[in-house]
Amino acid sequence: MTETQAATRNGLARLDELAAEREIELRRDAPIAPLTTLRVGGPADRLAEARDGEQLLAALRLARDADVSWFVLGNGSDLVVADAGLRGLVIRNRAKAIAVDGSRMTADAGTPMAMLVKRCTTDGLAGLEFGISIPGTLGGAVWANAGAHGGEMRNVVAWVDAWDPATDETQRLAAAACAFAYRDSRFKHADEVVLAAAVDLEPGDPERIGATVAEHQAQRVATQPLADQNAGSVFRNPPGDHAGRLIDAAGLKGFRIGSAQVSELHANFIVTDRGGSAADVRALGDAVRATVEERFDVRLAYEIEFVGDWPADDAAGVAGQ
Ligand SMILES: Cc1cc2nc3c(=O)[nH]c(=O)nc-3n(C[C@H](O)[C@H](O)[C@H](O)COP(=O)(O)OP(=O)(O)OC[C@H]3O[C@@H](n4cnc5c(N)ncnc54)[C@H](O)[C@@H]3O)c2cc1C
Repeated sequence: MTETQAATRNGLARLDELAAEREIELRRDAPIAPLTTLRVGGPADRLAEARDGEQLLAALRLARDADVSWFVLGNGSDLVVADAGLRGLVIRNRAKAIAVDGSRMTADAGTPMAMLVKRCTTDGLAGLEFGISIPGTLGGAVWANAGAHGGEMRNVVAWVDAWDPATDETQRLAAAACAFAYRDSRFKHADEVVLAAAVDLEPGDPERIGATVAEHQAQRVATQPLADQNAGSVFRNPPGDHAGRLIDAAGLKGFRIGSAQVSELHANFIVTDRGGSAADVRALGDAVRATVEERFDVRLAYEIEFVGDWPADDAAGVAGQ
């Protein structure tokens, strides 16, 4: 057994002991692929499900106190989980309380964006219609400054409650403190966890809001391979261009490595076969990137996140995204 394996085993023993003491339920060797939209990758050493903000904090503190690595999982719509799985504790955030006060909507970070948009439609609140195209949670959307149809989270976020593992404290951050940029935020560069967030919207006509949402949905159905397993856009758009256009122009639509294929419908999507492997997704992504660089001298950066225990070679590539 290597030193790292021994440390992991000791950490997990501590984690199990503390979890028993605190009556927190953990699943062992829990499959994570079914909890992601790409549906590849191996199990987590331990999995906890948080159904409200209190359970989320309790699970985070459990990992912190046991000194075990942890990963907060939203809806898994931006992830490629390594075939070897994830070490430590995965915390699936399903906390989804919503409160509306005038035109401000506050929600737990685990609330699906679609649920927020639905509430906006019934309550006549405009400004979050774009969120129907983001199949993640509010926390994941804040983390990514997710956006679609010309809208972005940074346009609506009023504040974010973030828990800092270094201090075990929760801070309310104004939007200006969140360092939002194109598909980026401070949360991508720190260990802070989004517990909840508030968005500021505008009063609107429910029928009109519903019609815009339906239009967005129809547009996505027509242009994205939503019936297939995927994790959204694989690469970020390079300045002034679209990753999908470059991949298409390189003749890569339909290109396949093992169980992973560049979508025929949208070149910036990779779709996987049932029972497919994360290694194939990685190999295909890297091959696409190399071909685009060779043809157009543009180096694409990954938008999807590779998480878990990747082989050393891939991990180097992941770090150098
Ligand atoms: C079909 C499809 C279409 C998509 N279209 C778009 C689009 O138009 N625009 C767009 O921006 N994205 C799009 N995406 C990508 C994805 O939906 C977004 O990035 C989304 O915000 C991810 O949220 P999630 O809850 O699924 O996060 P996950 O995939 O579960 O996690 C992603 C990262 O966020 C972190 N995270 C999750 N919750 C928290 C939290 N509470 N606190 C701190 N970190 C957290 C995780 O630890 C992980 O690092 C699309 C994906 C799919 C599958």
